[in-house]
Amino acid sequence: MLHQEFIHKLEDLLGKDRCTFSPEDMVAYSYDANPEKRAQPEGMVSPKNKEEVAEIMKLAYAYDVPVTPRGGGSGYTGGCVPVQGGIVMAMDRFNRILEIDRDNFIVIVEPGVVVQDLQAEVDRIGQMYPPDPASVAFATIGGNIAENAGGIRAAKYGVTKHYVMGLEVVLPTGEIVRTGSKCVKDVAGYNLTELFVGSEGTLGIITKAVLKVVPKPEARRTMTATFSTLEKAAEAVSAIYATGVRPATLEFLDRISLEAVEKAIAFGAKPEEGALLLIEVDGSDHALDAEVEKIQTACEQCGVITFRKAQSDEDREDLWKARRALSFALCEIATEWEDDDISVPIARIPAMIRKLDQIAERHHIIIANFGHYGDGNIHIGMTTGKNGGPFPMKAKQEVVAAVVELEGRIAAEHGIGCVKVENLHWNIDEPTMNLMRRFKTLLDPKGLLNPGKVMPKG
Ligand SMILES: Cc1cc2nc3c(=O)[nH]c(=O)nc-3n(C[C@H](O)[C@H](O)[C@H](O)COP(=O)(O)OP(=O)(O)OC[C@H]3O[C@@H](n4cnc5c(N)ncnc54)[C@H](O)[C@@H]3O)c2cc1C
Repeated sequence: MLHQEFIHKLEDLLGKDRCTFSPEDMVAYSYDANPEKRAQPEGMVSPKNKEEVAEIMKLAYAYDVPVTPRGGGSGYTGGCVPVQGGIVMAMDRFNRILEIDRDNFIVIVEPGVVVQDLQAEVDRIGQMYPPDPASVAFATIGGNIAENAGGIRAAKYGVTKHYVMGLEVVLPTGEIVRTGSKCVKDVAGYNLTELFVGSEGTLGIITKAVLKVVPKPEARRTMTATFSTLEKAAEAVSAIYATGVRPATLEFLDRISLEAVEKAIAFGAKPEEGALLLIEVDGSDHALDAEVEKIQTACEQCGVITFRKAQSDEDREDLWKARRALSFALCEIATEWEDDDISVPIARIPAMIRKLDQIAERHHIIIANFGHYGDGNIHIGMTTGKNGGPFPMKAKQEVVAAVVELEGRIAAEHGIGCVKVENLHWNIDEPTMNLMRRFKTLLDPKGLLNPGKVMPKG
C-alpha cells in the first residue's frame, strides 16, 4: 500500500492529471508483450522532464517504493511489468527529437520517441538510424536502449549499442549523470554509456540519448533462396560471406516455419524446400546488381532450389510475405507456444537446429525456428500442438543447456526481464554475477529501481 503522504507529494509535484492511483487505470500498466507476466502497480506517474524524474526517485527512496520505467510496453520478457508493485514511470511524455546534427551524423532524442518516428525524421534528410526491430511502430528509443534491441539490419549494421554515443540518466537515488559525447573518439573517463545500454531499466532512467546515424543507402535489393535443409542454407551463408558481400538482412525460416506459412498463405513453397533465406543488400545502386549476382552464384553452388529477386517494391513485399506471415501462421498450428530468443555464433546455427530437432523428438513436441541468421539470433517456438497435452518444461531447460554447450547466449535481443532471471547463471559465472550485484547496489542501494529483473537474488 502506498503511503498517503507519498501520493500527495507526487500529486503536488506532477498535478493530478499526470499521476493516477485508480485500480482500473492500473490494468494498462500491468503487462507487456509477454502473455504470462502480469502484475498491477499501485500508481502511475508521467513525468515530462529530468528534474521531475529525479524528484520522483528521491520520493520513492524516502518512502521505499519500487519504481518501474515503462516505454512502449512491447518487451517480451516482462521488463516493464511491476512485479514488486510500487509505481510505474511512463516515459511517453519524453517524446521530443531535440536536435538533428546533420553534419556530425548525430541526433539527440528523448527516450519516449517512437523508433519509427526517429527513422522517418532522419530519412527526410538522407540519413538512416539503423536499429530496426520489428516493433519500430510502437517501441521507444528508451526501451530499445534499455534492451539493446536488435532487428532485421543487425547482420550488417549491428544493434542499438552501436548507435548510442551518450546518455543522460537519472540514477535511482535521484542524481542526474551524463555519459559519452558527440565525439567518435572519446576516452575521457570510463565507458559508462555501455553500462546503461541493455541494463533493462535497473540501473537508471534514461532521460536523453545522443545517437549516431549513418548516410542512407542509395538503394537496396531483396531476394529469397530456398534449400532442402538448413545445413545447405548454412553453406550458402558461408559462401555468401566468402564473396565479400555483407548483406544488411539475412533472415531464415526452417522447415516447420515454412510449412506453416505455406499452409496459411500458399506463397508457393515446394515440399522439398526445408529452409528459406531472405536476403537484402544495400548500398550504391550501381554496385548492387554485382552483389546480387555474387549471392546468386554462391547459393547455386550450394544447391539452391528456388532463387527469387525482387524487381519492384511490390515484388519486395511479396518476398517478405513469408517472414511477415509467420507469427499468424504458427498460431494455426497451435495457440499455446513457449517462445525463446537465443543466439549462437553464426557458424553453429545448424548444430543448434540439430539439437533442437533432437529435443523435439525426445519430448514429442513441435519446434519452429526462424530469425536473424546474419547475427546468430534464433527465435524458437515450442508447442505440443493444437490438441497436445501440457508442455514438458524440461524441454526448455534442455534448450538452455544446448545454447550454453555451443557457447551461445540465453538472451539475444529480448532481454532477461523477469522471465529469464533464474537462467542467467547459465551464462554468467558467480564472480561476474557478484560484480553485477555490486554495481546494482552501488547505484541502487535499496534495490527500488525495477526490482525482480535481470539478476537473481544473491
Ligand atoms: C511484434 C513485436 C516485434 C518485436 N521485434 C523485435 C525485434 O525485431 N528486435 C528486438 O530487439 N525486439 C523486438 N521486440 C521486443 C521489444 O519491442 C523490444 O524489447 C523493445 O526494445 C522494447 O521497447 P519498449 O519501448 O516497448 O519498452 P518496454 O517494453 O516498455 O520496456 C522494456 C524495458 O526497458 C525499460 N525502459 C523503458 N524505457 C526506459 C527508460 N527511459 N529508461 C530506462 N529504462 C527504460 C523498461 O523498464 C523495461 O525493462 C518485439 C516486440 C514485439 C511485440
